[in-house]
Amino acid sequence: MQNITILGSTGSIGVSTLDVIARHPDRYTVYALTAHTKVEQLALQCAQFRPRLAVVGSAQAAQELKRLLGEQGLRTEVEYGVGALCAAASAADTVMAAIVGAAGLAPTLAAARAGRKVLLANKEALVMSGQLFMDAVEASNAVLMPIDSEHNAIFQCLPLGFRRQPQEHGVARILLTASGGPFLKRAVETLDVVTPAEAVAHPNWVMGRKISVDSATMMNKGLEVIEAHWLFGASADQIEVVIHPQSVIHSMVSYVDGSVLAQLGNPDMRTPIAHALAYPARIESGVGAVDLPKIGQLQFEKPDFNRFPCLNLAYEALRAGGSAPAILNAANEVAVQAFLDGQIGFRMIDRLIAEVINKLPHGTMSDIDAVLEQDCAARAAARALIAA
Ligand code: NDP
Repeated sequence: MQNITILGSTGSIGVSTLDVIARHPDRYTVYALTAHTKVEQLALQCAQFRPRLAVVGSAQAAQELKRLLGEQGLRTEVEYGVGALCAAASAADTVMAAIVGAAGLAPTLAAARAGRKVLLANKEALVMSGQLFMDAVEASNAVLMPIDSEHNAIFQCLPLGFRRQPQEHGVARILLTASGGPFLKRAVETLDVVTPAEAVAHPNWVMGRKISVDSATMMNKGLEVIEAHWLFGASADQIEVVIHPQSVIHSMVSYVDGSVLAQLGNPDMRTPIAHALAYPARIESGVGAVDLPKIGQLQFEKPDFNRFPCLNLAYEALRAGGSAPAILNAANEVAVQAFLDGQIGFRMIDRLIAEVINKLPHGTMSDIDAVLEQDCAARAAARALIAA
């Protein structure tokens, strides 16, 4: 029996994780569930999964959650704040890291430092802290499993015992597939006027709002390039993005002998979640097999960097190293939120990020305080540009 903490249980990944867990009550119990604002949804989850602990974002939310749980006679302990998130992440056997954005860094890192099995959905944490995060995993012997469907696919296509040395295993390239999002074919000159509703309407995946906008700009793929670098030890030149609009092949590994291994599946996050939860076993996830004759054709094309400048910015940040990825990530979070709030247009997202990256000096990242400092500075610079 594994006990599990789900950081971000009210989000898209959190809900899919609970769906998989509910199918296997003989294998998994829930230790803690965490949310930020969605207290009613969290109370319903507590009633169904009976965790020992529930964590929310504020004292007010905690009070409201206690009231809702009390009405149902539930004994779940209620806490709030970052310290409680870190404690919840340190105490379980397995931690699903599914808080969105930089807010996930502290608890995800706490899970890694405590040597837990970390199921990493929160790619922003790894993009921000890169080497420091991987060092923490190594020092504590934590087990890091990728949840992003692409990285989970790559993991499945790599040989057993892969140790972040692509050359040693005959890996020539990692091929990260990308759907291209909702604006793959839209006239570039009309991108200035797209609405948040259009940007979050992903053609294949149902996801949270932030990652949906990231998919529309392809910053999501850019963050995934950086994530792949840290997870698999591949250089920027060894990671190639391939547009594959059907989202059936979730990524591929190309070997020096000419073999290309791919992982296929329906676009449903329960597959990588079930894989990572049960690895090396396989468990039922609720997702059926792909119907290839029905799909008929699989298409591929090269990404157009003029249409998707965010992808280029991410490659540049990876090559620059140091604090550049953390600055990129923070500026992107602020820009995406401003777009969703109607403060800036869609094409301002990449311009704003580029300006913040050019404006700030790129430091080294000796410890987590340095990461958080860079994150804060980039957010302040992005907000100042929006306000100007
Ligand atoms: P959602 O927006 O759907 O959910 C985010 C979760 O994080 C919610 O539970 C939310 O709580 C919580 N949260 C938000 N802000 C904070 C905060 N400041 N402190 C603590 N908790 C917070 O996001 P997704 O599930 O789509 O994505 C989660 C992560 O997984 C992201 O990093 C994303 O990139 C990654 N990912 C997502 C995929 C997907 O298919 N959705 C695929 C691959 C990766 P509340 O709802 O209560 O406010």
